[in-house]
Amino acid sequence: MEEAKRQTILIIEDEEAIAELERDYLEQAGYRVEIAENGNTGLQRALSEEFSLIILDLMLPGTDGFEVCRRVREKKNLPILMVSAKKEDLDKIRGLGFGADDYITKPFSPSELTARVKAHLARYERLTGGAQPRHNAIIEIRGLRIDKDAHRVYLNDEEKSMTNKEFELLTFLAEHPNRVFTKDELFRAIWDMEVVGEVATVTVHIKKIREKIEVSTANPQYIETIWGVGYRFKV
Ligand code: CA
Repeated sequence: MEEAKRQTILIIEDEEAIAELERDYLEQAGYRVEIAENGNTGLQRALSEEFSLIILDLMLPGTDGFEVCRRVREKKNLPILMVSAKKEDLDKIRGLGFGADDYITKPFSPSELTARVKAHLARYERLTGGAQPRHNAIIEIRGLRIDKDAHRVYLNDEEKSMTNKEFELLTFLAEHPNRVFTKDELFRAIWDMEVVGEVATVTVHIKKIREKIEVSTANPQYIETIWGVGYRFKV
């Protein structure tokens, strides 16, 4: 039973010695660890398997760390800890908003690595309320039904027509119940991250979705505004 509850961390790192060192530290701290030795394998595994956290090297053969991070972020909600050998890269990670949660420079100490991992796992647990993201084709919450395959939304069996972006935004929020997202995070998740964003777009779309699914937009039952932070889908 204990084994089944252990959190699994994916290390994407092409330098074998570093990957093994990280694995040893993390296994000692009680985590289960998997290693992918290049960006393509890492990306594929990150998208198709369930991990609790990813430790992602920046310089990788094939798909580099920036690209892996960007593509994982489009689909998955889990902490990504970027690792780089160069301090200058960190400015880039910070500046470009690739969606990494944190970054760490090599060489780092075992305690530094495990402390960061632990902190991010705890933070995600808090944000999601421990709830696993929903990936079912049909999401149903208190009379609201989202059919992902058919791209349709129903409220008490009455269909509500939505634009593509409204549908994607609503589905994204509903798939991550109880997690608070900033407008910036939502913008990056739904719109093209390469585009320099008009974050107000998010506000406009939330307003339109609410007009369609909320009985009272002043007192929303589904998408809640967290003042000064962003939005959250209530379950
Ligand atoms: Ca590398």
